[in-house]
Amino acid sequence: MANFEAPKIILDNDTSPKREDSLNTIKAYSGKVSQFLDDVNAGRELQWKDRKFEQTSQCMLTQVVNRVLTIRDSVLVIHGPVGCSQGSYGYRELYRNVPLQLQRPRFQLNILSTNLTEGDIVFGGEKKLKLAIETAVERYNPKSIIIAASCASGIMGDDIEGVVESIQPNIEARIIPIHCEGFRSEISQSGFDATAHAVVKYLVKPPKRKQKDLVNIIAPFSVTWADRVEFTRLFDKVGLRPRFIPDFATTEELMEISEAAVTAPTCPSYGLYLQAALKEKFGVPYFREPAPLGLTNTKEWFRQIAKHTGKEREIESLIAEEEAYVLPKLEEFKKEFKGVDASVFVSAGQARAVFIPKFVVELGMKIAGVNTLELDPYIATELQAVYDQVGDFEIHASDIQPFEQSHMLEKMKPDLYTGCPFMGLYKREGGHVRNHSYRSDFSIQSQQFSFRGILNYGNVIQRALKNPSLNKTLRAKRPRPYKDWWYEQEDVLKYANE
Ligand code: SF4
Repeated sequence: MANFEAPKIILDNDTSPKREDSLNTIKAYSGKVSQFLDDVNAGRELQWKDRKFEQTSQCMLTQVVNRVLTIRDSVLVIHGPVGCSQGSYGYRELYRNVPLQLQRPRFQLNILSTNLTEGDIVFGGEKKLKLAIETAVERYNPKSIIIAASCASGIMGDDIEGVVESIQPNIEARIIPIHCEGFRSEISQSGFDATAHAVVKYLVKPPKRKQKDLVNIIAPFSVTWADRVEFTRLFDKVGLRPRFIPDFATTEELMEISEAAVTAPTCPSYGLYLQAALKEKFGVPYFREPAPLGLTNTKEWFRQIAKHTGKEREIESLIAEEEAYVLPKLEEFKKEFKGVDASVFVSAGQARAVFIPKFVVELGMKIAGVNTLELDPYIATELQAVYDQVGDFEIHASDIQPFEQSHMLEKMKPDLYTGCPFMGLYKREGGHVRNHSYRSDFSIQSQQFSFRGILNYGNVIQRALKNPSLNKTLRAKRPRPYKDWWYEQEDVLKYANE
């Protein structure tokens, strides 16, 4: 098996490298998982890094914005045309749905756009950026100001670091420039690395002391509010404090993540660079896997945390307690699913893409195929373990691409399609259930991490198998979303490389 190397962190650089270069990430792939593993193990170049045609795509800036805008006492300055900010304004309402009783802090989401126009593209946007920073201070008196650079500022070559250097000595708020210009990388997840680079370089302070009970938890969009509540309950029981980064942290809290005992993963795609940068600059230890999904992984995850916090005894009793709760219920699921001849197509980020197949097979069902946004060669170790357990299956990297996923589903005709909300466009084809939800979801079914999450996920599958009538009706009454011609094509990646 190819050895995995952690990404190289050079914080003196303005930003992180793009993932095409640092991890050899691809976002178009179709084949058997055995072929993917052979390619990685043989050190072969994975095809294809970019797509000639995309029906949908994400941009680095949008990936950044929806993560950092929850930093509570901060102002986010989107340095670009006003259109680059359009995706950011619904979040205030979204998060206000979370009841205060569920530990939701009171917060404002402060976002400004520099509103670059055609004239600015000719003469440069630095003056507007300065003005936006001054306005942020005057209007909100924030503890930090995050600048998200756009395609426009990148094309003009605005000297963002120069602006920061000229203003920083005059204001107290820490300024954090993130290079997330949309055109910079075909892999939008490069934006996660750019954010981590900037946060560690400009914001996190050297530790004054080590806090043995503080555990950084990487919290991407898919760690829901219900997951936070459950993690917090479990950590309370063993005398530890979770710090979800960066979601809803304060500037002060982020400054001290260098003092944590360990940085724990939930999704390697989101958090690996942040973990590696904290280790590189401040020596904060981390482990890369497993994500705390399912009973076995969650036990291992907590035991890894125990090693760094000295809480072995407390964590073993927590595991015993949680197993006593979960195992009998899991057995009931297994009994119920036994003999159900159902196949499942999984569409998810990399952490769930390697976990859900194992769980589905454990419940007695079959895996039809797996779709992910992107594929990093480092996922090969975990995929190998899945392959060893469940055998061969189709794997497809698509960066969403509804037309390709629809093609896969038509070809495989799974009984269930289990997907992320943003990949969940297929209610007509097979039973559709959601893998997981957004960060603001506090419903019980959206709590799918840690010990009890497996039961909630089982409930979701159970409901879908018991009542497929909506999907059947939709499929019968609505036409297929694409023309027959497309479904007759042999190659699902026909347009990716043409
Ligand atoms: S940064 Fe570029 S790709 Fe992203 S929203 Fe702005 S213009 Fe579009």
